[in-house]
Amino acid sequence: MASERVLIVGGVAAGTSAAAKAKRTNPELDITLYQREPFISYSACGLPYFIGGWVPDHNALIARTPDQFARDGITVRTEHEVLDVDAAAGRITVRDLSSGKTFHDHYDHLVLATGAGVRCPPLPGIDLKGVFRLRSMGDGLAIKQYLAERKPASAVVIGAGYIGIEMAEAFLELGIKTTVIDMLDQVLGTVDVEMAALIETAMREAGIQIHLGAKLAHLDGDAAGQVTCACSTGAELAGEIVLLATGVTPHNELARAAGVALGPREAMLIDGLGRTNVARIYGAGDCCTVNHRVLDQPVYIPLGTTANKQGRTLGAFLGGVERPFAGVVGSSVTKFGALQIASTGMSETMARRAGYAVRSQRIESTDHAGYYPNARPMHVKLVSDAASGKLLGGQIVGYEEVAKRVDILAVALATGMTVEELAWSDLTYAPPVSSVWDPVLVAAQALAKSR
Ligand SMILES: Cc1cc2nc3c(=O)[nH]c(=O)nc-3n(C[C@H](O)[C@H](O)[C@H](O)COP(=O)(O)OP(=O)(O)OC[C@H]3O[C@@H](n4cnc5c(N)ncnc54)[C@H](O)[C@@H]3O)c2cc1C
Repeated sequence: MASERVLIVGGVAAGTSAAAKAKRTNPELDITLYQREPFISYSACGLPYFIGGWVPDHNALIARTPDQFARDGITVRTEHEVLDVDAAAGRITVRDLSSGKTFHDHYDHLVLATGAGVRCPPLPGIDLKGVFRLRSMGDGLAIKQYLAERKPASAVVIGAGYIGIEMAEAFLELGIKTTVIDMLDQVLGTVDVEMAALIETAMREAGIQIHLGAKLAHLDGDAAGQVTCACSTGAELAGEIVLLATGVTPHNELARAAGVALGPREAMLIDGLGRTNVARIYGAGDCCTVNHRVLDQPVYIPLGTTANKQGRTLGAFLGGVERPFAGVVGSSVTKFGALQIASTGMSETMARRAGYAVRSQRIESTDHAGYYPNARPMHVKLVSDAASGKLLGGQIVGYEEVAKRVDILAVALATGMTVEELAWSDLTYAPPVSSVWDPVLVAAQALAKSR
């Protein structure tokens, strides 16, 4: 019997995870991966650190090459763009971008792992010289080259989400005078305003100018790449390099054409195995929704950690192992300088918007025993459901072990813990690494008491 043919579109996190896991699970599968870019299987998450110079070589971001996949029996065709899907015929149309030739390929199973692109406002000037977006390895290399050749003295970052913050730090590290603008009244809209203010203060103290409540209206530029960003507030901010870090939008064109149902933010609706509503078409990664375990509904939270899990789950399924991915609770982390900020579940703002009667508590503690050297402040905010006492979310800003503490909260959320239960959890303690009452326990006890 002929082996089943699996075609995968997109080869960064989700597509390559699916390919590798499917082949490991069922070596008989005949797998071909089509990828528009020259690069596959790399860490886009590492790009700000490559641009900032902490990671000197972009090759360090590459996990596996096409040759390594070939050795495992997986065919990878880079610089091939999939143009169309004929779901009834089980056929795709592909263009070889180096030769310009177009051809068809047939599938038994089709994985759409087409990811996402930068959500750019359709404003005059967004394609000017000196204006960049950061999504792919190619984008990262282009920015790096521009920085080397042009040596800009000033940068404007549009968008103060986690990519904007990481890139502001990268520009600063390179000695570039940096301005960040955002249309919201706070940086990092995924956390509550008082927690975001701690990051904002750190950014300002490091020398970054921040304009909040300022929507980009248009960009003007000259042939030399000097760009002026005009804002809704009337401010005009000049930069020799401008980065659009304005959020992401799923690449859903192929899915839409194939009749795949779309969900929040028009991402592909998939189940825990990666199946769509269209037979033999599957999805994984940033082009897809994911189940939110607290809200119990599909959401669009495109992150590398999820893309890898969705890809691996789908690969196993294609190989014959049915082990659904339960979903996310909305965890993320970033840093600015020495300050880390992590969150999971819902912020107070999100929880109220979702209709919960909310209780919240914010405490300030230290990351380890105050008497042990170098204890530094740690701010914890927890949010709970007033009716059930269940934890709904948490945010932590501090200098050490921030993410790992938020990870405790993520597990508490996934298991449906109440704040009372969390408050008495058996967390580790020794003076150099924690306090006898860990900041997470202090916050949970304070919140439990407020019921
Ligand atoms: C600067 C930056 C920092 C990040 N930091 C973090 C972080 O710290 N933590 C975290 O969890 N996540 C982070 N992310 C997000 C993470 O990188 C993404 O979630 C992850 O790359 C998603 O992988 P993916 O395979 O689903 O999609 P993508 O990475 O978008 O890859 C999809 C690929 O498919 C290709 N493609 C699309 N359409 C076609 C077509 N028609 N034919 C052929 N190929 C096609 C695209 O060119 C692309 O190469 C970051 C992202 C960026 C850009």
